[in-house]
Amino acid sequence: MSASQPAAAAETAKPKLAFRPLPVPQVDVRGFWGDRVDAVAARTAGILYDRCVEARMLEQIDPDRPSPGVVIPFHSPSPDEADEQGAEFTGSTVTTQMFWDSDWGKTIETAAYSLYRRRNPELEKKIDAVIDMYGKLQQEDGYLSSWYQRIQPGLRWTNLRDCHELYCAGHLIEGAVAYYQATGKRKLLDIMSRYADHIADTFGPEPGKRKGYCGHEEIELALVKLARATGEKKYMDLAKYFIDQRGQQPHYFDEEARARGADPKAYHFKTYEYNQSHKPVREQDKVVGHAVRAMYLFSGMADIATEYGDDSLRAALNRLWDDLTTKSLYVTGGLGPSAHNEGFTSDYDLPNETAYAETCASVGLVFWANRMLGMGPNARYADMMERALYNGSISGLSLDGSLFFYENPLESRGGHHRWKWHRCPCCPPNIGRMVASIGSYFYGLADDALAVHLYGDSTARFEIAGQPVTLVQTSNYPWDGAVAVEVGPEAPVEFTLHLRIPAWCRKATLKVNGKMLDLDTATGDGYAAIRREWQKGDRVELDLEMSMARLFANPQVRQDIGRVALARGPLIYCVEETDNGGGLHRIALPRTARLEAHKEPNLLGGVVTLSAIGSKAEAENWGADLYRPEPPAAQETKLKAVPYFAWDNRDPGEMLVWLREG
Ligand SMILES: [Zn+2]
Repeated sequence: MSASQPAAAAETAKPKLAFRPLPVPQVDVRGFWGDRVDAVAARTAGILYDRCVEARMLEQIDPDRPSPGVVIPFHSPSPDEADEQGAEFTGSTVTTQMFWDSDWGKTIETAAYSLYRRRNPELEKKIDAVIDMYGKLQQEDGYLSSWYQRIQPGLRWTNLRDCHELYCAGHLIEGAVAYYQATGKRKLLDIMSRYADHIADTFGPEPGKRKGYCGHEEIELALVKLARATGEKKYMDLAKYFIDQRGQQPHYFDEEARARGADPKAYHFKTYEYNQSHKPVREQDKVVGHAVRAMYLFSGMADIATEYGDDSLRAALNRLWDDLTTKSLYVTGGLGPSAHNEGFTSDYDLPNETAYAETCASVGLVFWANRMLGMGPNARYADMMERALYNGSISGLSLDGSLFFYENPLESRGGHHRWKWHRCPCCPPNIGRMVASIGSYFYGLADDALAVHLYGDSTARFEIAGQPVTLVQTSNYPWDGAVAVEVGPEAPVEFTLHLRIPAWCRKATLKVNGKMLDLDTATGDGYAAIRREWQKGDRVELDLEMSMARLFANPQVRQDIGRVALARGPLIYCVEETDNGGGLHRIALPRTARLEAHKEPNLLGGVVTLSAIGSKAEAENWGADLYRPEPPAAQETKLKAVPYFAWDNRDPGEMLVWLREG
């Protein structure tokens, strides 16, 4: 049994076919994802630690140093950073942040997953030292929050709505589980288990306990991870409690505000939709508020729906999934168009240039989609997981692993670039930990079935019906759709292999040991199912046509009407100034233009580009005129598009996803 197999599961009423991800060390990725993981292991993980130190985060958590107080000196940003990061960052001081424990948690998690890829004793030593500080900081009763112990002592559990207290606990728990699994070191896991015990003693349905939950969801999914790692069912029950309690009346955030002498109506964000506590979760049917919070909540709900076989949660999740994916999702898998609430606005409101589309939100969608697959393979979720993975999330990390996007717009006039750090540094460690753990997103393992959610050159090791199995994927995915899967059980073993047939694929063929399988009869919910007694050397060949496609938005999306986006397989494309000259808005792509794909091994680490003959409106001969009764002349132009995730890795300039048609 792997560490991710919950002892607790036996006691819960879980559905028979719960699919759980394989732990990170059981999947070695090569090819496309191998390059990304290498960049994180070689550069990002160390950079995250260094930037946390530069931001003076050690001072906040180290009990051997004086408390930093509310304002501490901070490193001076370069002029470029200052431009990107706004006024709050441009001075020589920065306010300490109440969510810094979460940045440590995600940094520890990224480091942990990176250690599977690449031993790094120096980084491990640094992380051990951070863990020692948390060990020293932890109070007798198990409580642990650098903010409430060092910056605002005496105020613990007085403002769950705004202050990220349980959110920070959640990220440190995730870091603890990852670090234990990566290094075998229990120290942080023991620290966080003690803290989780304290939280379980403080919150819950029993008389005398607080009836609260966190304004920023995260603790729910983290407690599920902790329950799975330790086998302690009470952590799972506590996660369920936080989910069940959310949005119940009397409203906890109202009562909590009154208790600290505040007017509940003076809430900065006006509505509890901001943190998804406006209604009990089972009554929610619209995705609202802060996008990352929503994704984390739904991830936790999906875990609980899986572990408890809870159909009422599942029904709510399906409604919410429909709402998000049919009205509020960018074609890149980005979400949350507005900077104001870092989240959702109204249906079909998907502005391109001002898209907030936080990296963390796309990462959160990957988390949610992946957890929906716990209830069984279904391409409706896996296709969207793939889209968010290959586009709106990894766009947040430069190809070399050193620079980060917070916002991921679909159009830029040339001023949007990756930065080294951010005053709210949630995104860098979030994309870092997701990429470093990508192997665990590839598969779902059930009692007698394995689902292949993602394709790519890789080796997976798992145990099914007591038999160790090695599964090797050989593929140049996502550049090429041919995938060979070798199934190698130590002894013959019967199970079902589910293979995703992506909805974007127009033509797919599947062979088992050279014999063609009828995909129409074998496929349900977008997965082909092959049940047989597998023997060493069995070979499955899946050929997915890497179709190029023009995508059009629902005409209710005012920003995209008359426009077209280009895709190939799971990748969404964009045009950049460096390939196409400036004035990308003047380019038009005729409906009849032929799209061509080109392998370019020396471009952007090796990508497939798309090209077509389009036209470009001439601005040069307009002189001083602003308006004329004749349309501008247009010249034929060859346009070249690159994968969206890879933009802004070369000369800075304009970028555009939705091209004018015409
Ligand atoms: Zn973020």
